Amino acid sequence: MTGPRNGYQGQAKILRALAHPVRLRILDILARQEACVCHLEAVLKRPQPYVSQQLAALREAGLVTDRREGTLIYYRLAGDRLAELLDQGKALAQAVAGEVLDFPPVPEEALANCPCPHCQG
Ligand SMILES: [Zn+2]
Repeated sequence: MTGPRNGYQGQAKILRALAHPVRLRILDILARQEACVCHLEAVLKRPQPYVSQQLAALREAGLVTDRREGTLIYYRLAGDRLAELLDQGKALAQAVAGEVLDFPPVPEEALANCPCPHCQG
């Protein structure tokens, strides 16, 4: 007979996945719009294998989901509550730091260096 799984372990799994500056920025981008790997590469200016590795960690933790459209795979946040949590995490970081911190803006406009349909359509 098994009871409920250990909640702290589940919580730690999510927080481990979140405890990474680039992964937090990816989630910030996905909180505004779903995006394919090539779009995230263009925003982050990081190579595809690196971006894919971070997305795999986020997916493994259940924080992002993906869907395939043609040859592209689009990623999005796994739930609305995650966007709230991200905002609270930013507020907490600023409160602990005791100063206003810089969170780089997420570009809303089409990116010239991105081949994704969102940018080239
Ligand atoms: Zn794009």
